[in-house]
Amino acid sequence: MKEVPNILWLEEIRKEDIISVGGKGASLGEMASIGLPVPKAFVVTAQAFRRFLVETSLEKKIFSTFEKLDVEDNAALEKVAENAKALVMKAKMPAAIRGEIRASYRKMSSGDLIVAVRSSATAEDLPDASFAGQQETFLNIKGEAALISSVQKCWASLYGARALYYRAKQGFDDHTVNIAVVVQQLVPSEKAGVMFTSHPITGESITIIEGSWGLGEAVVSGTVSPDKYEFDQRGEKVVDVFIANKKLEIIADGDHGTKIMDVPKDRQDKRVLSDDEIAKLAMYGKIAENHYGVPQDVEWGVVAGTIYILQSRPITTIGKKEAKGMADQKSSAKILIKGQGAAPGIATGKVVIIRDVKDTGSVKEGDILVTKMTNPDMVPAMRKVAAIVTDEGGMTCHAAIVSRELGTPAVVGTKNATNVLRNGQLVTVDGELGLIYEGEVAHAAPAPAATQVVAGHGQIITATSVKVNVSIPEAAARAAATGADGVGLLRIEHLILGLNKTPGWFIANHREEDFVNELHDGIKIVLDAFPGKTVWVRTLDAPTDEFRNMQGGENEPHEHNPMLGWRGIRRDLQSPDQFRLQVEAFKRLWKEGYEHLGIMFPMVSHPDQFIKGREMMRSWGVDVDNVTLGIMIEIPSSAIMIEDFLRAGIKFASFGTNDLIQYTLAIDRNNENVADMYNPQHPAVLRLIHDAIQMCRAYDVECSICGQAGSDPKMAVWLVEHGITSISANIDAIAKIREAVARTEKRIILEAARTKDAE
Ligand code: PEP
Ligand code: MG
Repeated sequence: MKEVPNILWLEEIRKEDIISVGGKGASLGEMASIGLPVPKAFVVTAQAFRRFLVETSLEKKIFSTFEKLDVEDNAALEKVAENAKALVMKAKMPAAIRGEIRASYRKMSSGDLIVAVRSSATAEDLPDASFAGQQETFLNIKGEAALISSVQKCWASLYGARALYYRAKQGFDDHTVNIAVVVQQLVPSEKAGVMFTSHPITGESITIIEGSWGLGEAVVSGTVSPDKYEFDQRGEKVVDVFIANKKLEIIADGDHGTKIMDVPKDRQDKRVLSDDEIAKLAMYGKIAENHYGVPQDVEWGVVAGTIYILQSRPITTIGKKEAKGMADQKSSAKILIKGQGAAPGIATGKVVIIRDVKDTGSVKEGDILVTKMTNPDMVPAMRKVAAIVTDEGGMTCHAAIVSRELGTPAVVGTKNATNVLRNGQLVTVDGELGLIYEGEVAHAAPAPAATQVVAGHGQIITATSVKVNVSIPEAAARAAATGADGVGLLRIEHLILGLNKTPGWFIANHREEDFVNELHDGIKIVLDAFPGKTVWVRTLDAPTDEFRNMQGGENEPHEHNPMLGWRGIRRDLQSPDQFRLQVEAFKRLWKEGYEHLGIMFPMVSHPDQFIKGREMMRSWGVDVDNVTLGIMIEIPSSAIMIEDFLRAGIKFASFGTNDLIQYTLAIDRNNENVADMYNPQHPAVLRLIHDAIQMCRAYDVECSICGQAGSDPKMAVWLVEHGITSISANIDAIAKIREAVARTEKRIILEAARTKDAE
């Protein structure tokens, strides 16, 4: 048999070489072999690593320390791992291997090319042993010395504590596990993004491309709302262009790492890709799709006019059935703890327990964030993680709402995950079923990324409007991509709480203008994503306990029960300065021509509050008779008194069932001890909703729902049957709600026709 060399160039690699080059190396090689413009790369093969172990006589030294190791003994595991890694790092790489790596690096360029050095574990019985979280990657590496040391660091990482623990638990024999190292030109993308080679839901020949400035990470992680382009492959033309306001970009930082930067104003609204670039990208996408035989999810980047294809893998679409293997594995895997599945998706990663928001600095990309309950200061960390697990909360808590918008799997209300799980432990989170498994359960399909909720084409038309809820502006593009008929609830608290200063702080420090600007800019992002569709922005509704951690929060009253406390419209009416600043932001938007902006008052319990709020707005110069002002029905009194509200002139009403249920049934929505009694279909709740809908219909006023219950298809059926005008659901629920609504409407029409025929 031919001996495998120490180095293999991408062009030489075929998928059969996976055992020598690992999954990453094999996939890059295959992409290069079909003519895709993959950045230059070579692989230091698994055999080179073996030769290193043999020639430095490390094999015996390392493996003998593994023999009596009990991986459950953390201290012993750490000690053995440290020792093995130190042995690999201290050993001198054989001259032949070192020489070949240096020569290959020089061959790539004059020897000062910036590269990424990525490890890829391989094992005889599982060639692509790409176990989550155990592979080291070193970005931004420059120079021969740094390269040699990074390759050796990748090798050493094969013996990290977590990797050893994982392999022991999965029954791998460490003697047979190898590691290959991919050395690839790092593409410092000036613009980058993702592409679906065919429509991910309908399968139509439409290529969907999303792009933004800087490295592609900004798009993949959802840090920015990217531009979106659609290319019709049959007509060979761009059929849709959406230009987003791109405020941030991620770029390379010095010699290693990346940083987030503000995009200069003149580039924020500039189109990222030209028609030519879109057509070229679509063509590359088609090549990949034809080769692999299934639609691909492709990562791309552009530098100095050259397009690079960085990765290509089959599309994982929402609603896709689990692979059978995964289901089998799940049934045998050990469940560590259970809770409520609050945001769908499955992810594997390392547990990081956060007891104080100050510790969120330790959260890394891909970790599993475990905490008592998230709060707005934690959102930056929540953006990075692969999944979120909380002790407290139900389907409508902060963690649940934000995770759903970020597209991050989440399990809430586990009661004691912060005690049961251990820092650094590898777990798999199922955000649909609410389960946390030990270790990696199969190759968990990645959580639907920010770009994967796409509908639009072939969309079902319903008479009942299906709208979407938004809480963080960065989710606006994702929300719009669902094809929703508008935004039935934009919660501005998340925007304000993210500033980390209370409105009172801005007022006390004469920084009102900053506050108004932030609010204006955040809302504008959402309005821009929904041109011509109504967007109902809700005035501030943050309970005092959420303000307390922020600057200025020291003055917040300590309330015995903040849920029943100083929040919503009651607080705004008593704090005219705070209310006026919000109204100022709305006024600017109306003046700029955003006529589709409507304002919704939360927590109203009496029509006088609506009238007073409207009169205050009038006194601040709002043409209240010609703008859309409405209320949330989330306190039973407002449902009972709906006719008085209608007479007072509300233009719409929307059921906030999250609160309506808790106030009707006396069940704290965030209390996991009573979560099983939190029943959206309790007859009393349904009766309040039914009566209010009928009254709104009598007055011909739009009646909607924006509470979590509207994201449940069963409830949607009931609501349509009872005459609701619109339903506003979570991003992840739009497709199924639309379907449930369409079916119900058709059934009603059919039944009516049959009854008529029978007459
Ligand atoms: C509700 O109460 O149903 C609602 C949508 O508002 P929030 O969840 O923000 O209280
Ligand atoms: Mg509410």
